[in-house]
Amino acid sequence: MLIQENISLTSFNSFGCKATANYFCTIKRKNEIDEAISWCEHQEKPFLVLGGGSNILFTKDFDGLVIKMEMKGIQLLKETPREVLISVGAGENWHLLVKYCVQKAWGGIENLSLIPGTVGAAPIQNIGAYGVEAKETIQQITAYDTHTKQWVILDNDACQFSYRNSLFKKEKNRYIIAEVQFLLQKQPTLHTDYGVIREVLHQKQIKQASIEDISNAIIEIRTDKLPDPSILGNAGSFFKNPTVNHEIFNKIKEDHPTLVAFPISNNEYKIAAGWLIEQAGWKGKKQGSVGCYEKQALVIVNYNQATGKEIYNFSEAIIQSVNNMFGIQLEREVNII
Ligand SMILES: Cc1cc2nc3c(=O)[nH]c(=O)nc-3n(C[C@H](O)[C@H](O)[C@H](O)COP(=O)(O)OP(=O)(O)OC[C@H]3O[C@@H](n4cnc5c(N)ncnc54)[C@H](O)[C@@H]3O)c2cc1C
Repeated sequence: MLIQENISLTSFNSFGCKATANYFCTIKRKNEIDEAISWCEHQEKPFLVLGGGSNILFTKDFDGLVIKMEMKGIQLLKETPREVLISVGAGENWHLLVKYCVQKAWGGIENLSLIPGTVGAAPIQNIGAYGVEAKETIQQITAYDTHTKQWVILDNDACQFSYRNSLFKKEKNRYIIAEVQFLLQKQPTLHTDYGVIREVLHQKQIKQASIEDISNAIIEIRTDKLPDPSILGNAGSFFKNPTVNHEIFNKIKEDHPTLVAFPISNNEYKIAAGWLIEQAGWKGKKQGSVGCYEKQALVIVNYNQATGKEIYNFSEAIIQSVNNMFGIQLEREVNII
């Protein structure tokens, strides 16, 4: 395993922010993970696991070892007339995996089409979109536990998945995910509950949608709504949708009848963070090289070589202003380094 020094991370993060890793290595095999962690211990340096860099904001250089996951491979472990079980290397590109499964007509992850990043990062925040979350298909995960120096196999329950959260986010930097197993369906129940998906299918006069139709619809919706990071630096949704109780929900609804929210339990509602940010007047707003995307207020964009610090400060100003207006503290979804 080669450890390189002073490597630029600019092309390894979707914001395109300038940052340098003092040490950098790529991982193509499991045993290289043990080696990289031993090296860090020996050198008394911290480590940072990096996938596609599409959910990270570098506000400074990283004085330690950046471990870039490039483990590849899709293996069919089991096939029955109803299901398939596959094992996928952490370094595989997420969208290419979705395309591969769609092509084989294996259902379960088609609503997660076009999400950037790697397979190994998908469980970290339990990626989700258009009514589906990664946790619904993840069967088990093979990870290196950097505390015990053991390889562990974690089943779905052990991963403690919830909305944009998991064991891996709670115990930050403890586990390095090497492989993820997905259980996919040959006759899946398709998720078309989102109005926009139904609209696209209707426009195309598709009555009996296939897995591929759903994937194509999602790609069309996302391409129209979200900025392409290769053109305009961003990390998708910068904030999580906050949860509020019935009382707060009622109060906001009374003052703002257009409130966008949906119930998640008897007494709890999830409020669309994009709606809060828009109400606070940030949608389309630009300060220097940083801005709030004009088509989706949840997305912060780097218009022209903004630094990670500038983007962070912009996000801080949004948090403050939403708090002043609604008394709700937004939480960042993006990982800040
Ligand atoms: C345009 C755009 C749209 C997006 N849309 C969505 C969306 O709809 N839904 C959604 O949930 N997300 C979305 N995202 C966010 C992002 O794509 C996902 O969070 C994705 O899973 C990040 O993958 P990555 O490989 O780029 O992770 P990175 O950004 O490299 O890393 C993210 C975190 O995971 C850790 N990590 C990465 N790989 C591993 C590993 N193998 N083992 C242990 N830790 C690891 C990192 O240390 C870091 O803390 C979007 C981003 C963009 C740019």
